[in-house]
Amino acid sequence: MEKAKISKNGFLLRAMICPKCNEKIIHPTDEQEYNKFINLRNKNFVVKMRLVGNSYAVSIPKEIVSFMREQEKIMNDMVRLCFEEAGKLSLNFMGVKNDKR
Ligand SMILES: [Zn+2]
Repeated sequence: MEKAKISKNGFLLRAMICPKCNEKIIHPTDEQEYNKFINLRNKNFVVKMRLVGNSYAVSIPKEIVSFMREQEKIMNDMVRLCFEEAGKLSLNFMGVKNDKR
């Protein structure tokens, strides 16, 4: 068995892979975290838009932010927001440079 990293839906999972038969064993801790993520991903949250000054704000459920914080250890408050397609916005929590560095 050889150590490897498997990428799934933006997750890096530690694994052992057999070079001969390609059998994979995923690190149990990583697999557990990944399953938590899948659970969260399958949830649908309905949140309300609020007018704050000249902008609208929506609340991001705490369980999502808590989960991301656990994953990233650090997470700054800046989020990259993009009008991805008609009727859809995306938020990227990892794509903003931290200027404090
Ligand atoms: Zn094998």
